[in-house]
Amino acid sequence: MPRPIQATIHTAALRHNLGCVRRAAPDAKVWGVVKANAYGHGIERAFHGLRAADGFGLLDLQEGQRVRDLGWRGPILLLEGVFEARDLELCSRLNLWHTVHCDEQIDMLAMHKTHQPHRVFLKMNSGMNRLGFTPQRYRAAWTRLDALPQVDEISLMTHFSDADGPRGIARQLQVFTDATHDLPGERTLANSAASLRFGDDAAVRGDWIRPGIAVYGSAPDFPDHDIAHWQLQPTMTLAARIIGVQQLAPGDTVGYGSSFRTDAAMRIGVVACGYADGYPRHCSTGTPVLVDGVRTRIVGRVSMDMLTVDLTPLPQAGFGSEVTLWGRAGNGAVLAIDEPARSAGTVGYELMCAVAQRVPVMVD
Ligand SMILES: *Cc1c(COP(=O)(O)O)cnc(C)c1O
Repeated sequence: MPRPIQATIHTAALRHNLGCVRRAAPDAKVWGVVKANAYGHGIERAFHGLRAADGFGLLDLQEGQRVRDLGWRGPILLLEGVFEARDLELCSRLNLWHTVHCDEQIDMLAMHKTHQPHRVFLKMNSGMNRLGFTPQRYRAAWTRLDALPQVDEISLMTHFSDADGPRGIARQLQVFTDATHDLPGERTLANSAASLRFGDDAAVRGDWIRPGIAVYGSAPDFPDHDIAHWQLQPTMTLAARIIGVQQLAPGDTVGYGSSFRTDAAMRIGVVACGYADGYPRHCSTGTPVLVDGVRTRIVGRVSMDMLTVDLTPLPQAGFGSEVTLWGRAGNGAVLAIDEPARSAGTVGYELMCAVAQRVPVMVD
């Protein structure tokens, strides 16, 4: 028998979450963001749940090829554009739309030989200071692109740095709107957080929203709001089983470094999941898990192949019991990925992207 650990991708939850985000930004078209192999879910595994999207946003030409191989004929947007001149040939061949964020990308386009002019998304750096033209240089870039025979339609794009936090988006929205108000073309500004929090504002939702994390069942502004608040459902479950039980006396310690010490008699379960499966080692004592769908906690350090859980609230649990590290338990109970992520000092994005190769994945 294989080691009892498994990830499950929930097709119906992907579909549900996409619908939630769509309702938060009515009338906007939706880029389903599938970069990073669909946030660790696997593009092929997630595709069926996401096919109601209007297009797919991704980073790698390879990922674009994979989406085309699945039979998708609709829009695909390369969110960082091309990295070298010959990438443009594949864009032509696969009919990929691409972001243009720097002069070098315009130079490459100007040299590109194509029969089909390209649809491009001209990116503004409205304050995040990662990719894009500054507001001062944006119009010159637009004019240069507009003059190229290689370019068909120009859309306008920016990205928010603080859509999930207290700073919000007002400043960047103002910068983008001021610099583009008289330019034609479709607009795209909003990631998950902006779509959920500000999608009722037509200027924020623009023509296309670009949700990723919310579609994958993680609340972009956790812990201010959780997935229940946004009515999102987990799209990935990481589950394992108890492979051993220990009865501890008061004063006993658990695991490497003896970081946990009991103050009363206690039963613990040893779970077939460790950091080599992608479960964060930083999830120390107190991190929530579900055993047979009942909430309990990790005790002691997470090791490479195992971790230990408190069975005090679960007198019936033992060898073979189901342990849900995140996602949905057999009894329907939910543990959002955001909770262990927070215990590890990180975000749901990182956990879902880091599930290890050795964990078998199934789709339901
Ligand atoms: C990843 C990404 C998104 C999606 O962001 P989420 O926070 O996951 O919703 C949107 N736009 C761009 C340009 C991205 O790179």
